[in-house]
Amino acid sequence: MVSKIPVRKIFFNGTIITMEEKQPSVEAVGIEGEKIIATGLLDEVEAVLGNEYELIDLKGRTLLPGFIDSHMHPMSFLYVLMSLDLSPFTSLKELQEFLKKTAEVRGKGELIFGFKLKEEMFDIPKLPTRWDLDVACPKNPVIILRYDGHIGVANSKALELVGITSETKVPKGGEIRKNEKGELTGVISENALGIIYAQISKYRSSESVDLQETAAKAFRMLAEKGITSFHGITTPQRDIPLYNIIQNEIYQSWYSLISVVNPREFIDLQEQKLDSKKEDSKFKTRCWKGYFDGTLGAKTAWMHEPFSDAPDKSGFSVIDEEKMFNKMKLIHENGFQIGIHAIGDKGNRVLVDLYKRLLEEFPRDNHRHRIEHASLLTEDVIRDIKKLNITVVCQPPFINSEYTWLEKRLGKKRCKYTYPFKSIIDSGVIMASSSDSPIEDPDIIQGLHALVTRNGFIPEQCITMEEALKTYTINGAYAAFEENIKGSIKVGKFADFVILDRNPLEVKKDEIKEIQILETVIRGKSVFKIDEKV
Ligand SMILES: [Zn+2]
Repeated sequence: MVSKIPVRKIFFNGTIITMEEKQPSVEAVGIEGEKIIATGLLDEVEAVLGNEYELIDLKGRTLLPGFIDSHMHPMSFLYVLMSLDLSPFTSLKELQEFLKKTAEVRGKGELIFGFKLKEEMFDIPKLPTRWDLDVACPKNPVIILRYDGHIGVANSKALELVGITSETKVPKGGEIRKNEKGELTGVISENALGIIYAQISKYRSSESVDLQETAAKAFRMLAEKGITSFHGITTPQRDIPLYNIIQNEIYQSWYSLISVVNPREFIDLQEQKLDSKKEDSKFKTRCWKGYFDGTLGAKTAWMHEPFSDAPDKSGFSVIDEEKMFNKMKLIHENGFQIGIHAIGDKGNRVLVDLYKRLLEEFPRDNHRHRIEHASLLTEDVIRDIKKLNITVVCQPPFINSEYTWLEKRLGKKRCKYTYPFKSIIDSGVIMASSSDSPIEDPDIIQGLHALVTRNGFIPEQCITMEEALKTYTINGAYAAFEENIKGSIKVGKFADFVILDRNPLEVKKDEIKEIQILETVIRGKSVFKIDEKV
């Protein structure tokens, strides 16, 4: 019998940044199989690894813990890759012509799925109807989604395919719109989109080759960005059947934020075998995701005062406070983690007050409840977040996309506390960073650049590269109760590494974007490596 000795490797001769406060850098790191078994001076590490190991020469490059993207939508990311990009079109006519051509290429009956519709850019800024799509594609099912993923349009064939009729029961928190005559317009929003996703995943799974291939591409793309783990918003009805099909294509581990309207469903889900409850499980389902308000882009974020460019709008909460409190209570009392979307200053204030009430009435240590986005935070809110030990999960790349119009929308005064990363970190709150992909590119280097430079937007809120790296490593691990197994280079943790061409702690601000990711290692295995130039 051949005994299987796990592979042992030593990485040395480069800069090794550990993200461990006590020993921020080491000379060498030794791994066995999936785990780190030694760190320190090269001869110390060699002594631990014994006689047989592979020596990996970093050649002066920089190794650090793998990146964690703490808020993204992995299945939507996949759908975007599988779908047509509709963002370039500026009129209904252009869109129709494009869909018509696509139908000709694909052939009769093929599903056409388009994403990133920006109808506000149209000459007549109006959502198309099913009849508009029927004109272009009478013989193909067509489903198009707006870029924020909150609303979409299906043509007649698509409504037929997914089984939506005028009798279909409309799910709570969603719409299946009808006109004055009571006819379906094809416009479907929010929770009602679940009907489409559930049907589409079945449809997709019949062409599983395509799905598998796209999944492999998607998760390889994340590996190329140095991402070794992500926290993924998961809509169980749509995503779990898909996950079961593609799980072999996913290199990273996936900490799920389960998005269901009824938290009872979340509790029931915990009974299923999805989450092995083992610490090293690659798919965990311990966090419930809720929504409290809208977005700045859609002017639906809940604000104390109206938007500067829309004096009649100050956003709103998408759910009654008392109802939200009861949902939070159910999750909290069952010992799970809460993660709630809040963007506006009032949204965050009221949500933090709900957390305060929850934690006063039902104290619990180490809950690590989260606020997703936490975009506008006044000083009083930050103070309370700290007191309550809430974790915030921010999206630095939003600054890159929004800095040109934020002042117009919010006015100077409110900009001062928009994405206030330095105030958050200085107050001692644990902040993790993320892309909200597919909303933003899951590019960690861009994210680091946004944290350190903010593209000039409210520069006093810039943080240091070291702090920025923490938000993408150890803090991300903490936000998922995983700091004992990942997020830093320490004996006993997973060998999740990223190797960069230069030391990010030493680059100048204008050089950050040039940092290259050369290799990504997940649980000891190299999953991406750039071809070495001779
Ligand atoms: Zn999101």
